[in-house]
Amino acid sequence: MTATRVLVLNSGSSSVKYQLLDMRDSSRLAMGLVERIGEETSRLKHTPLTDGGASRERTEPIADHEAALQAVAEELAKDGLGLDSPELAAIGHRVVHGGQSFTRPTVIDNAVLAEIERLIPVAPLHNPANLTGIRTARALRPDLPQVAVFDTAFHTTMPESAARYAIDVETADAHRIRRYGFHGTSHAYVSRATAELLGRDPSEVNVIVLHLGNGASASAVEGGRCVDTSMGLTPLEGLVMGTRSGDMDPAVIFHLMRVGGMSTDEIDTLLNKKSGLIGLCGDNDMREIRRRIDEGDERAKLAFDIYIHRLKKYIGAYYAVLGRVDAVAFTAGVGENAAPVREAAVAGLEGLGLAVDGDLNAVRGDAPRLISPAGARVAVAVVPTDEELEIAAQTYALVGKNI
Ligand code: ADP
Repeated sequence: MTATRVLVLNSGSSSVKYQLLDMRDSSRLAMGLVERIGEETSRLKHTPLTDGGASRERTEPIADHEAALQAVAEELAKDGLGLDSPELAAIGHRVVHGGQSFTRPTVIDNAVLAEIERLIPVAPLHNPANLTGIRTARALRPDLPQVAVFDTAFHTTMPESAARYAIDVETADAHRIRRYGFHGTSHAYVSRATAELLGRDPSEVNVIVLHLGNGASASAVEGGRCVDTSMGLTPLEGLVMGTRSGDMDPAVIFHLMRVGGMSTDEIDTLLNKKSGLIGLCGDNDMREIRRRIDEGDERAKLAFDIYIHRLKKYIGAYYAVLGRVDAVAFTAGVGENAAPVREAAVAGLEGLGLAVDGDLNAVRGDAPRLISPAGARVAVAVVPTDEELEIAAQTYALVGKNI
């Protein structure tokens, strides 16, 4: 029997998201989420996707990642999709930070684990959780190939002029301070899918990808290679996000310390968790913000305007970086669903060849689609992202041929 299934694991500090895919036709067999690991109120939600099976929920204390993965394995086994199946080809892990070391998906061995661990100082929130997920999965199936797919890898093609901050070079290098970028799996997938939508080879097209989820980032992709992206050393830089500030004068931090009497951790929490849309208006869900704007809420309107202003600046900046733009692609929760955001982001940019057709923009759907008027110089598109499929495809491409 040929092994064609890939389990994709996205391990956070207290959660594990997973999908099981069959790479013969890229179909999804099951998906689910374990939340609040380590708490009394842990929850596992499992959805089998074969034969229209209904979701199942388990609410019981799940002590750690090992118990979480064990519970996932039990649920998969109930659907005849157990992790001991000979059809399972590999496990693909999302790893947030690959630094400069990892430029492509990598089969995990002890040396790879050690290098991901060495990168913890630049990704203190994410890499430890990713490592726990990998170690747990390896313990469960030591014989199975496991692949790390890095959020930063797609951005390692950025030239030094885009990747370096203009600070003292020795200090920067000593602390590995540079712009790494994140959401790379999504930017890679969406830029390629946008080229497909245009019926062209990715190597021929220049695309600005706007990944607007709760976290948000933009990238400039030239002929399939990333040449700039808006997130930096950490995911805090760039666009206004659900709860993150994005770009800001770094002196704000000194001011908050010296004059505001705030600690480093307090400022970290302020800028990562209490800023962006939620800091500006108390909501980070774009649906709720639009509803409040419709009711005449001024704070929600200002938050929206600040969000759009920043987005527009990045479109302009990446237009200049690329010189020629073939397409602007909107993706992720906000990008795929919020027509008013797409409309406002390109409003007034007709001079750059950018426009949105009102009727096309209002259409909802899961398929990649154009929303620019017929004959527009630059295509504007909605291209739903699929990070799990991309991780599975990259994992399978690496190990599938050896099976
Ligand atoms: P992440 O993966 O970063 O958590 P998503 O890509 O799932 O986020 O995006 C989540 C966000 O998408 C929500 O916070 C919300 O602002 C936005 N969103 C989701 N659905 C809609 C919708 N129908 N209309 C407008 N915004 C939406």
